[in-house]
Amino acid sequence: MPRVIAEHLRLPPGPVDLAAIPTGATPGFDGGKSDGKEALTELGDELSDLQERLFAEGRSGGHRSLLLVLQGMDTSGKGGVVRHTVALVDPQGIEVTAFGRPTEEELAHDFLWRVRNALPAPGRIGVFDRSHYEDVLVAKVRELVDADEVERRYDAINELEAELVAGGTPVLKCFLHISPDEQRERLLKRLDRPEKHWKFDPVDIDDRQLWPEFRDAYETALERTNTEVAPWYVVPGDKKWYRNLAVGLLLRDALAHLAPTWPPAEIDVEAQRQRLLDEQPVQ
Ligand code: AMP
Ligand code: MG
Repeated sequence: MPRVIAEHLRLPPGPVDLAAIPTGATPGFDGGKSDGKEALTELGDELSDLQERLFAEGRSGGHRSLLLVLQGMDTSGKGGVVRHTVALVDPQGIEVTAFGRPTEEELAHDFLWRVRNALPAPGRIGVFDRSHYEDVLVAKVRELVDADEVERRYDAINELEAELVAGGTPVLKCFLHISPDEQRERLLKRLDRPEKHWKFDPVDIDDRQLWPEFRDAYETALERTNTEVAPWYVVPGDKKWYRNLAVGLLLRDALAHLAPTWPPAEIDVEAQRQRLLDEQPVQ
């Protein structure tokens, strides 16, 4: 199992040129689709074990958790990663939040208010399907706030993430990078399949027409928030199997870095064993 995926996907500091990063490549993985799917299945046990340790730690007074932030254009596979990768672990340990257009109540607060409310509890893996980054992406492209406010938000985001990391919640940020052609294919497929029509949003085509503006906004957001404590990973997303595997590997590495250990028993194990061995038959 590749151990070095992070080195391939970590965004180097400095200006970002997304057009120069291939969307269909499989960095750090030599195999093809069936190997990739197999590798993901195998990864499941390791992910489950790490997740359960973290959960147990949280139950025993530990305060640590992990936040996985998934960003990308429509159809980039944020939902697919939740379904195929995150779903490999016990759902009790996962808290998924999908961020849509802010409600009236949310708009009445600072943009981070709804984000703070959705942070994972101790021991949990929080997953953001879209996130506070929408507030410097769509908010910028569609001019929902002025330029000064967008500027302020990059710093506010960096402060929040630094606070989370310092408090024991690493923030794993994945940008799912697809090409506009791939998105067109995926949107067309949605239209071909009646069972996918419910998730077809005409706004996606409007956003698509603003692809260069969104790419610019992403480049700036990635550059401004690519911090040492919470760096960005750019995951090529045209191949779904690779995307699912790559996020799984990054998640595995992030959990392994936390190195959660099984809490020591608070019970007298031998005494409990003896009680069961000594008991009268239970009717
Ligand atoms: P989806 O993820 O496809 O269900 O769509 C969610 C929609 O909500 C997208 O069009 C996002 O651009 C939009 N959205 C999410 N967060 C914000 C935000 N903070 N401000 C404005 N629109 C947002
Ligand atoms: Mg959408």
